[in-house]
Amino acid sequence: METLYFVIPCYNEEEMLPLTAKALIGKMDQLMKDGRISPDSKVMFVDDGSKDNTWEIIEKLHASHPMFTGVKLSRNRGHQNALLAGMMTARKYADIIVSMDADLQDDINAVDGFLDKRAEGCEIVYGVRSSREKDSRFKRGTARAYYKLLSKMGVEITYDHADYRLMSRRAVDALADFPEVNLFLRGLVPMLGFKSDKVEYVRNERQAGESKYPLKKMLSFAVEGITSLSVKPIRFITTIGLLVFLVSIFMLIYFFVLWCMGRTVAGWTTTVVSVWALGGLQLLAIGVIGEYIGKIYLETKHRPTFIIDRDLEAEENETMKGENYDGK
Ligand code: UDP
Ligand code: MG
Repeated sequence: METLYFVIPCYNEEEMLPLTAKALIGKMDQLMKDGRISPDSKVMFVDDGSKDNTWEIIEKLHASHPMFTGVKLSRNRGHQNALLAGMMTARKYADIIVSMDADLQDDINAVDGFLDKRAEGCEIVYGVRSSREKDSRFKRGTARAYYKLLSKMGVEITYDHADYRLMSRRAVDALADFPEVNLFLRGLVPMLGFKSDKVEYVRNERQAGESKYPLKKMLSFAVEGITSLSVKPIRFITTIGLLVFLVSIFMLIYFFVLWCMGRTVAGWTTTVVSVWALGGLQLLAIGVIGEYIGKIYLETKHRPTFIIDRDLEAEENETMKGENYDGK
């Protein structure tokens, strides 16, 4: 029987945590009773530098039930980094890791399906939403367009899969070999390869608290997805540059011919328009290239993506070791 760890990033989730904990404890009990996961399985909450009582609640949960454990990041680092921190900590103890949001939007009963696929030998199982009825029209439309854009850019990505997935320790160990600072896990995980499959589920509405992904954060996450996984935008600029260059050569010949024929050109419009068009294009190009240079800059620094402040499980093991030692 394999040991399963849920990894749950939490940022200001004090309203949600008690509900999530209750739902998970039911699910875990059932899975253990059915003999599908080992009794050592746990739920690991990752406090992503919350400003409310999230960490205190996690500590209380940990004290009240051995099934709960927690990791505290030294500050807020964002959902993707918190998730990575949790997975990298959990792989020390777990055989399989299921990553999930704290807001119960992902149907926890899909885990049964995940485990079925795992029994068939999958190393990665993606949770895929079967419908987006509960999302606003705007979110549905933009999400769809974004997935299309990503696949046009050559990014391999599972359609309608957020970060609800099962990964084996082997897969997570392989992920640990990606030293990326700019994280977009959804795009990275398919790169790992291994046998994988999908399980469909219906996504619910957030049960309490509010979304931590306002439009601005969502936009920067979207840009992150493209620029950390694809260099197509740079190539696209090269193509445009080439085209503009060809057009200008053509114009040069055309005006030269006109000049030979003795006709003068009213030059003001052409000059001004081309100055503006080229200036705009150049600025755009520099901006896009700058985006990548910024990435290179950050990657070459090799800064850690997260710093762990507390790991309740490690602390517990430490005190247990101490007790054994004292007992001798
Ligand atoms: N989250 C996090 N750090 C952040 C923002 C969000 O760990 O800086 C967590 C949050 O607590 C939740 C998950 O990421 O468990 C997804 O966030 P949310 O549900 O707000 O996003 P949405 O579902 O609205 O896209
Ligand atoms: Mg959510």
